[in-house]
Amino acid sequence: MTDLRSPKTLPETKAFANVKVLWVRHWNDRLFSFAVERPASFRFRSGEFVMIGLPGDGEGAKPIMRAYSIASPHYAEELEFLSIKVEDGPLTSKLQLIEPGDEVYMGKKPTGTLVTDALVGGKRLFFFSTGTGLAPFLSLARDPDVYSMFDQVILVHSVRQVSDLAYHDELQARLAEDPLVSDEAATQFHYVPTVTREPFRTTGRIGDLIESAALFGDPVQGAKRLNPETDRIMLCGSMAMIRETAAMLDGLGFEEGSNAKAGTYVIERAFVD
Ligand SMILES: Cc1cc2nc3c(=O)[nH]c(=O)nc-3n(C[C@H](O)[C@H](O)[C@H](O)COP(=O)(O)OP(=O)(O)OC[C@H]3O[C@@H](n4cnc5c(N)ncnc54)[C@H](O)[C@@H]3O)c2cc1C
Repeated sequence: MTDLRSPKTLPETKAFANVKVLWVRHWNDRLFSFAVERPASFRFRSGEFVMIGLPGDGEGAKPIMRAYSIASPHYAEELEFLSIKVEDGPLTSKLQLIEPGDEVYMGKKPTGTLVTDALVGGKRLFFFSTGTGLAPFLSLARDPDVYSMFDQVILVHSVRQVSDLAYHDELQARLAEDPLVSDEAATQFHYVPTVTREPFRTTGRIGDLIESAALFGDPVQGAKRLNPETDRIMLCGSMAMIRETAAMLDGLGFEEGSNAKAGTYVIERAFVD
């Protein structure tokens, strides 16, 4: 069916930039990706997040703004995001209806702890994500600098259902279509999807994959356990996954890093459920 509605532009604000939506891709009824034009003055580090939003309901209402990890690497011309669709969510019940040409609001100051600056050097870099917690790792995994800093980059994405494995094909192909990292990713990047509530080739939760050592071994090279001497870890996703995994890492002698003081692991709590 041809869509005849005209693009929705938004009133200007002082606090936020109006950015134009370039494309939208729906993965299923719970997830979608979209990209916006990158304002010329917008700078960020791979792995950071920014506020995204739409006008509030009613005259004089404040915009509804929410934190969103930028899924594009820092050099990208467009800014890509991966979003949940929360049925009654103040923002995402509306945001899921955006179409190319529409405008959304974007904050001017990106920030975050899932940046390589917050980690001391190491050999293996592990990304542990649940759900939309994948987004900052799409940014980092497509950043050539990451491959010069680490020998291996291992992305674990845990979801409930197979259709929640957004970007599965691109990641499974080791980013072979990516003009900037395809050569490095072909040998250094490993993708480990896991599905906890449907049959799939891997079904363990992140903690189980680490404890049982199923995560290690071919193609991931090196020790079959996490080692604070050589391994660096980034966590993003549900509170439960972060709480459990961070406790495990603390027990193994890892130290949480921040922008103020680099460490051996970093976390970002993206959502409470
Ligand atoms: C640092 C940070 C980075 C974030 N990055 C992203 C991102 O890249 N993509 C994204 O979709 N969301 C992200 N979020 C969550 C996002 O800010 C909003 O919560 C989300 O867009 C839903 O907004 P809402 O107004 O529709 O519902 P809200 O009122 O914000 O949330 C309603 C309910 O939905 C749950 N929920 C919210 N977000 C998610 C989610 N992503 N996955 C599962 N359950 C969720 C909440 O726990 C809550 O119970 C991030 C949050 C933080 C703090």
